[in-house]
Amino acid sequence: MRRKMVAGNWKMNGTASSLTELGNLAYSCKSAKAEVLICPPATLLYRAANVCTDSKVEVGAQDCHSATYGAHTGDLSAEMLHDAGATAVILGHSERRADHGETDQVVRAKAKTAITAGLTAIICVGETLADREAGKTLAVVGAQLASSLPDDTRGTTVVVAYEPVWAIGTGKVPTVEQIAEVHNDLRASLVKRFGGETANAIRLLYGGSVKASNAKEIFAVAQVDGALVGGASLKAADFAPIVAAL
Ligand code: 13P
Repeated sequence: MRRKMVAGNWKMNGTASSLTELGNLAYSCKSAKAEVLICPPATLLYRAANVCTDSKVEVGAQDCHSATYGAHTGDLSAEMLHDAGATAVILGHSERRADHGETDQVVRAKAKTAITAGLTAIICVGETLADREAGKTLAVVGAQLASSLPDDTRGTTVVVAYEPVWAIGTGKVPTVEQIAEVHNDLRASLVKRFGGETANAIRLLYGGSVKASNAKEIFAVAQVDGALVGGASLKAADFAPIVAAL
């Protein structure tokens, strides 16, 4: 049985004052059954991890470098993030793929390093609106999945997040049928590549305009094991009801 998960991606939002909100969230989630993760900007990781000590909320990062250390000015290694208190890292988010030209190969290399450092790699895939309108959704998402996941992927080390680019921050959400189609296809691809036991242990999150008002309906889709939430993760009052909907 896969443990449900709700992860919040704060993106480039948050300063020290946001830690109060995180404290509120930790309090609101004290009886959460799902795994709850908040990924603040790296500047807040260490303090966020301290705020969440002895709570049900874990903290994660939003990216890491594929190298373990060295001459990479401005970058952070997976080991550094782990050292700061992160238990997971989001990799291959569409904003990083778009803003930093991250390819599937880069994402896969980052995932390998993250896993070695003891982090759970939350690997993002998702089609653009143009892909969807051209009927290429499953092909695009399937190719990203195939090339971004390392061969030693396990349910304990990798989580896959399906985030249609056109649904991120837009208030537009795919129909439950559209989410089901992609999640079923992702699961089938994982089974083909890794075998049933491993594939069925890998959690598949949906992300893109998830809110308290639509969470229940999305979580009811068979292969949806939780959510990756952006805007609605910034305030405890918005995020806690999403956690409670699982
Ligand atoms: P929104 O929930 O703001 O649409 O963002 C989703 C996302 O990109 C999470 O990684």
